[in-house]
Amino acid sequence: MADAAKTLCPYCGVGCGLDVLPPAQSGRPVNRDEQGNPVWQARGDRNHPSSKGQVCIKGGTIGDSLDKDRLLYPMMRETLDQPLQRVSWDQAIERIASEILKTLADKGPDGIAMYGSGQFQTEDYYTAQKLLKGCLGTNNFDANSRLCMSSAVAGYIQSFGSDGPPCCYDDLEQTDCAFLIGTNTADCHPIVFNRLKKYHKKNRKVKMIVVDPRHTDTAKAADLHLAIKPGTDIALLNGIAYLVLKNGWIDPGFIESCTDGFSDYAQVIKSYPPERVTEICGITLSELKKAAEWWGKSERVLSLWSMGVNQSTEGTAKCRTIINLHLMTGNIGKPGAGPFSLTGQPNAMGGREAGGLAHILPGYRLVKNPEHRQAVEAVWQLPEGSISPTPGLAAWDMMLALEQEEVDVFWVAATNPAVSMPDIKRTQAALRKSPFTICQDAYYPTETAAFAHVVLPATQWGEKPGVMTNSERVVTYCSAFRRPVGEAKADWEIFAEVGRRLGFEKQFPQSTSAEVYDEFVTLTAGRLCDSTGLSHERLAAGPIQWPCPAGESDEVAHGKHDKRLYTDYRFATPNKKAKFCAFHIKGLAEPPNEDYPFVLTTGRLYGHWHTQSRTGRIERITKRYPEPMLEVNPRDAQLLEIQSEEWVEVRSQRGYAQLKVLVTQNITRGTVFMPMHWGFLWGDNTEVNALTHPEVCPISLEPELKACAVQVIPIAAP
Ligand code: SF4
Repeated sequence: MADAAKTLCPYCGVGCGLDVLPPAQSGRPVNRDEQGNPVWQARGDRNHPSSKGQVCIKGGTIGDSLDKDRLLYPMMRETLDQPLQRVSWDQAIERIASEILKTLADKGPDGIAMYGSGQFQTEDYYTAQKLLKGCLGTNNFDANSRLCMSSAVAGYIQSFGSDGPPCCYDDLEQTDCAFLIGTNTADCHPIVFNRLKKYHKKNRKVKMIVVDPRHTDTAKAADLHLAIKPGTDIALLNGIAYLVLKNGWIDPGFIESCTDGFSDYAQVIKSYPPERVTEICGITLSELKKAAEWWGKSERVLSLWSMGVNQSTEGTAKCRTIINLHLMTGNIGKPGAGPFSLTGQPNAMGGREAGGLAHILPGYRLVKNPEHRQAVEAVWQLPEGSISPTPGLAAWDMMLALEQEEVDVFWVAATNPAVSMPDIKRTQAALRKSPFTICQDAYYPTETAAFAHVVLPATQWGEKPGVMTNSERVVTYCSAFRRPVGEAKADWEIFAEVGRRLGFEKQFPQSTSAEVYDEFVTLTAGRLCDSTGLSHERLAAGPIQWPCPAGESDEVAHGKHDKRLYTDYRFATPNKKAKFCAFHIKGLAEPPNEDYPFVLTTGRLYGHWHTQSRTGRIERITKRYPEPMLEVNPRDAQLLEIQSEEWVEVRSQRGYAQLKVLVTQNITRGTVFMPMHWGFLWGDNTEVNALTHPEVCPISLEPELKACAVQVIPIAAP
């Protein structure tokens, strides 16, 4: 049997290790796709510290997608009504360079914007930052991570002085109380959930609380399910804090020596007595009391959250309100405890390390900080002042800038904004207005390619060596286990080639991704995410968690050290203390009203990934999830006179979608649920983002993709 290639699953932020084998060499019965073609086989890597051999349906079927609908060569056109024509790489790069130069002359650097992805490897992220923020002088680089966990980034920075989740997956098996809020972990981070569920089953004293308006598979495993009304999280969290304080379950020593701002916080939570909170949230007094008691009396509380918290106009406030509970009870920096935001994408964490959002720079630096800019300019061999001190356009702002004709070159790589952005009809109109759009992807067609003037074939993660970091800061080397298809190139190579064509030869001398990574880690020296002890060569021997400074021994680096941050209770703020900050509830940006009486909540299905660019091409998945369904509570269905499998039109102030109904007790009255995976490539009028609104959190700029007000109207099958 051939040796399996070691890599990481390229879907979610759990970051499961995979062993991948070519079809003919596995020594096992050959897996075949629906057409009978042999496919690459992926199975869990038993030696990976995060997943220990487990994979979910997505990781297990990844081999089926490697050769489906691949984009093989560059294509170009002048206008969107023309067909795309095959061109050489040289022609494509020349056109891109000339459009960039024209825009620099006409509009200046901020007329250029790039929208990247948590699918990038760290080397891709890093090279894109150098091109945009360094060479071109614009911070207009943002990634789809903005739609995913930027509220958690802002929450960590404001509370602790730095980004970086303080916890690790071993905490799942060492906690006394797991508090899951705004996360359907069973479907969206299945292997994290498996680890927690197994431990919870074996240890009956361990409590599991799930906060979610839906009775998800995650909620079904809980000891206490708080089915709060959408958008009432802050009232719940403040209500729990009220009871914790009232009952004296706080940690006064920790509060005194390790935090600032407790007295102001205590004043604010006093206005959240149980009778008010139960009314706002729609839960019972005994449920609230039980949650507070489990928080207050447990030695070790671990919070887990994801999009249900982050995708909100109150996203940063919600994250900080969760962190407040940890600070008041001293639940941080010790095994089984801490505030743990689960990242959505395989390398969203690596993107944060490499500076892959519009307001940050490599090594957890900020574009606003002059010393941070200088440190990066020095490594990039660029003159002082090359990096702009102004944060660039965040994801939704890029759409507004296209709408206002402020951006002339829009470069999209490894993501699909024509499906994933809020208010999708407005987004698509903005994309149509773009004078010059580049769409760089592994697959074709995608919805975004329909709006592109140039499409560029990118390699998949398994066709280029590189590095990704998962939610628990474990860095995994992803080997190139097959050759690039057609003329596809690695994302970082494409960025570097454009940079060189624009005259920045000195900035892009690297010929391998290992060299790119070596340069990147120099920018982490002395930072919280210090990775100077890492290299491709060292990581090829096995994943390592950061921080890993230069000189750290293999024994220490490979997991025999403390895996948590802030174990000395010294935070990354100037006075080394964590910061309380209290927030009052504001609620949904668009609450239901007479005309639009339901709250639509959005989310994922177990088998699908994002906009289906990959999973929509895997029959083993599409058979199981052929179409979206609208979940409706039985009493609402009765009033609407609809039954399962009948059709409805869901309307918001911005647009409509048409789909079948699933009547289920799993959703509370007044709320309906629709999955987020369908774009116009996979069905007519099935886009959830035809309904969502683009209001964002004022701090993190993350849109409130999770909720909007809708009406539901029965219709005949279209
Ligand atoms: Fe991949 Fe996430 Fe599934 Fe693990 S849990 S196999 S990382 S999709």
